Amino acid sequence: MSEFSLIDRYCYNIGAKHADTRLSVGDDAALLAVPEGYELAVSVDTMVIGVHFLPEVAPAKLAHKLLAVNASDMGAMGARPKWATLALTIPDAQQEWLAEFSQSLDQTAERFGIELIGGDTCAGPLTLSLQIMGLVESGKALKRSGAQVGDRIYITGNLGDAALALALTKANQKPLPDSVSKALDAPEPPLEFAAQLLGLANAAIDVSDGLVADASHIAKASEVSLVLDIEQLPISTELSGHQQSQNYALYGGDDYQLCFTAPPKEDARLGLLAEQCGIKLTGIGVVQEYNQAPVLLRHNQELVLPDAQSGFDHFGNNE
Ligand code: ADP
Ligand code: MG
Repeated sequence: MSEFSLIDRYCYNIGAKHADTRLSVGDDAALLAVPEGYELAVSVDTMVIGVHFLPEVAPAKLAHKLLAVNASDMGAMGARPKWATLALTIPDAQQEWLAEFSQSLDQTAERFGIELIGGDTCAGPLTLSLQIMGLVESGKALKRSGAQVGDRIYITGNLGDAALALALTKANQKPLPDSVSKALDAPEPPLEFAAQLLGLANAAIDVSDGLVADASHIAKASEVSLVLDIEQLPISTELSGHQQSQNYALYGGDDYQLCFTAPPKEDARLGLLAEQCGIKLTGIGVVQEYNQAPVLLRHNQELVLPDAQSGFDHFGNNE
């Protein structure tokens, strides 16, 4: 199959359709109209075989995860994802693989409100790179640097299930409970909830490298300390009781939940919004003036330092 018939068959009409798309797949570049009063939020995330996913993962799941991890970055800015371009590197043009991948890409992109407007296709070791673009009201995006002393810290969903799924898969303990395997293969970032946090939250980040690692990004950018209550961490029934439950919740990667800070006066509105969006929301700590370290853990009224070596780092020493 030629590169061009592959593009014709699998890359056109994928996902949502937006009126602001002036030109989509098929030309040298796509053309987008950014509506008055909005800014374009742009980000890219790559998934490499053997690094971000195990070789046996089904193409439909890869497409879902690729969209989810990218859409999650839009949510973390309070932006609504709208467009994506896809750089697809595949070892060979296997029809079955491509059909399954593009069908899942189409369905999930439509559900997330994302239109595929272009990309690039080449041969090589399986690498999926998606650039995502979203819209956010001008000047209102949620940055890592906005946390204020006195803010409460919140997290959506549960923490640590993806790390549990990875550990169980590596130990060959199959089948996994459904919700646990979904946490790893098919995360659902809280996009609607995130877009409605503008004006309520002061700072936000999506948890991809582990809660402590990502919370420390907010802390450093905002020049404060984030104090996390260990007893408050939201842990699923599947993970609770597991020997590593606390470690997975604090340091495990791939959660794609939203961690944000907001003034205490917004607590009731946040609770209502979470309920309307069908999101589990948990208060897990407070923002304090900088003290000893970016992130501190509170346990039985005592403050302890987190394990500095934990959290995923591509160029670090991950055990
Ligand atoms: P060019 O050589 O001008 O870069 P290509 O031949 O690479 O163009 O691609 C032709 C068209 O198909 C372009 O509009 C490009 O955006 C689109 N395209 C190529 N690969 C993909 C892909 N994997 N997903 C979506 N669109 C793609
Ligand atoms: Mg090209």
